[in-house]
Amino acid sequence: MSELLARHRAVIPNWVGLYYNDPIEIVSGKGNRVVDADGKSYLDFFAGILTNMIGYDVPEVREAVERQLATGVVHTSTVYLLRGQIELAEKIARLSGIPDAKVFFTNSGTEANETALLLATYARKSDQVLAMRQSYHGRSFGAVSVTSNRSWKNNSLSPLNVHFLHGADQHLAQFRGMSDADYIAACVDDLRHVLSTAVSNDVAALIAEPIQGVGGFTMPPDGLFAAYKEVLDEQGILFISDEVQTGWGRTGSAFFGIQNHGVTPDMMTFAKGLGNGFAVGGVVARGDLLDALHAAGVATFGGNPVSMAAANATLDYVLDHDLQANAARTGKIIIDGLRAAAQRLPVVKDVRGKGLMFAVELDTPAQAARFMEETKKAGLLAGKGGLRGTAIRMAPPLTISVDEATEGLGIIVNALEVINAEAA
Ligand code: PLP
Repeated sequence: MSELLARHRAVIPNWVGLYYNDPIEIVSGKGNRVVDADGKSYLDFFAGILTNMIGYDVPEVREAVERQLATGVVHTSTVYLLRGQIELAEKIARLSGIPDAKVFFTNSGTEANETALLLATYARKSDQVLAMRQSYHGRSFGAVSVTSNRSWKNNSLSPLNVHFLHGADQHLAQFRGMSDADYIAACVDDLRHVLSTAVSNDVAALIAEPIQGVGGFTMPPDGLFAAYKEVLDEQGILFISDEVQTGWGRTGSAFFGIQNHGVTPDMMTFAKGLGNGFAVGGVVARGDLLDALHAAGVATFGGNPVSMAAANATLDYVLDHDLQANAARTGKIIIDGLRAAAQRLPVVKDVRGKGLMFAVELDTPAQAARFMEETKKAGLLAGKGGLRGTAIRMAPPLTISVDEATEGLGIIVNALEVINAEAA
């Protein structure tokens, strides 16, 4: 064990997982690549953890942050007018498509979801919430209650009365072989059944990820949430789309993941990539919902000037370079390539994805671990996860070039070939 790993083990909780048998320390980054302490370079196909949305050491972001630092104001307080915060909120409100939207900034996705749940339960005077099976929404008391994987919940108690819906588990035996339309109809039946049997009074909200991130990039079929929304609207149930992983054009086909379903939610939560590494999260919601929570106070560091400088520069970069289109173009090369490889590699059980958010499902957690080691050796970083620990999750920066997409695809396919040969 390296000296740094021993020190990590001594002072960091053991549930803070590390990737790789010999975990790496990243010491620098440029473009879409990072370098570890031994000088080895990696193409980052996980973008940190979807945090480095436009890559590393981007001059536009660095200069915006440096300009802010040069003013001497790292942070004062949200009791003063903050130009960067107002500008960013204006952009996000416009892009969200939510009518009369306002934005509340937090420091993380967990805090954003906590705020959205607080808004919804307050507005509807109900502690009843709907969430999706296999979801992940964060580590706080409310966010963990709407998270649906026993191991991620750590047997925690729940402050909310949560009912979990089907919608991202089309692979289960009871749904296998169904068309998307039939599966959606079955899920809507289930939703209606839950609403008439499981809940004990009005329901505040449904919270859902358009593509389940930690759940292994599990993909509810397009249109599912539009079908759900019709039922929710009948009962005035609010809809919160957790866009922490799916926002800002990552799926290629839409700017926010939920737009793939033709739905405008009441609230969206975001974090991860927006600050390109700087901590920015938030909720964009109908103004009346956000205004109603007048007594909630501020998040001391939410919307701080340095994070806002980074986030404004990042979002401008995404829009100026039409990175949504790049996600669609480069993602298609990779997903098509993976699907072709899967035809001849039986070890690959599933290839799924949209834009630059794609996953490969293997048979066993040991194979997933093997994949991680093989790709690391070849100079590519990926993520693993999913309910059974068999999904390989990949989400490169939205800035990857066609050449980098092809290079990454080659490394992934080589690793899958090795694992397939070993399994034969
Ligand atoms: N929501 C989703 C969909 C996530 O993937 C995550 C983190 O992985 C969170 C919320 C929590 O965000 P954070 O880790 O910034 O608190």
